[in-house]
Amino acid sequence: MHDTRLYDDDARIAALHRLNVLDTAAEKPFEKIVTLVRTVLAVPIATVTLVDRDRQWFKAQRGLDQQETPRAISFCTHTIQQREPLVVEDAHLDPRFAGSPMVVGPPHIRSYAGIPLRTPEGYNVGSLCAMDTRERRFSPADIAILSNFANIVCDELELRLIAQVDHLTGALTRRGFVEQAEREMARSRRYERPSALVMLDVDHFKSVNDTYGHTIGDQVLHQLAKLAEATLRPIDVFGRLGGEEFGILLPETTADEALIVAERLREAMAGYAMQLSNGAPLNVTASFGVAELAPAMTSVATWIEQADAALYAAKAGGRNCTKLALVE
Ligand code: GH3
Ligand code: MG
Ligand code: MG
Repeated sequence: MHDTRLYDDDARIAALHRLNVLDTAAEKPFEKIVTLVRTVLAVPIATVTLVDRDRQWFKAQRGLDQQETPRAISFCTHTIQQREPLVVEDAHLDPRFAGSPMVVGPPHIRSYAGIPLRTPEGYNVGSLCAMDTRERRFSPADIAILSNFANIVCDELELRLIAQVDHLTGALTRRGFVEQAEREMARSRRYERPSALVMLDVDHFKSVNDTYGHTIGDQVLHQLAKLAEATLRPIDVFGRLGGEEFGILLPETTADEALIVAERLREAMAGYAMQLSNGAPLNVTASFGVAELAPAMTSVATWIEQADAALYAAKAGGRNCTKLALVE
């Protein structure tokens, strides 16, 4: 049967990027699985591989030196084009792989078994692989075991995503946001690019709950989050850091530019008459704090603290306004 999801690489990559997993740090479930694969199948190399547009990136790996390789030389780019496992008993005899730098040079892969990692929407985002430096057969039992482990990898990819997205607002959770902020901090420093963080907290939200009830309060948070997402750029990162407190990461943005973004969002929120299920149009405001990433900030926590301090100043300054962190 012709399955278009196997050939639509743009949609496949969008599904991969939705998982929010590329370039993240090592995580236990995946580490355990590659360790188990290596032991149970008695192979020197095991990887959880994700196939990005031009590279394969290893969420977990044992027996390799690299964290990623070009996609073109990978076995996995072939695995993701099919639903079934890809088994190569002797790469020297397979014209697709005989000349691959990974076969003729280190790590000298000679045999390979890869199970496609399929998302719930049906896209193969990568594969769970067992590799050996000698030719070998993989028995039906080996493939069954590897397939079971691949199912666990897929479940774990979903679970870590659930932990990252807030149900009520669709924004990242604090955990997801901090993870993104860590990546952004590293990226910004590596390329010496500016980056800014905005914190916002809804004003007098307790009185919204007290006046209209918690259900209406929830609707307000949902609508504010939708408004924020619509106002921001696709590369900006929006997270719910606490009850009615949100954070925005603005890559490639200086403090002055971030102030403009924050002010635009503040005005949009203040001017937005929300339609609630009780029929009453309601306006709420929020206070904003802005901090550009500075060399003195040693962690994401200190970056957030600086933006928080500015937010506190905005509250003290009468609310419904934006303040900039005082960073040396
Ligand atoms: P301020 O202007 O100083 O921020 O005043 P405030 O009332 O917004 O601040 P405070 O922190 O005292 O109150 C926050 C309120 O947000 C209290 C809490 O009940 C409410 N809240 C937190 N999470 C949720 C939620 O998920 N849904 C609803 N409806 N309310 C929430
Ligand atoms: Mg508040
Ligand atoms: Mg608050």
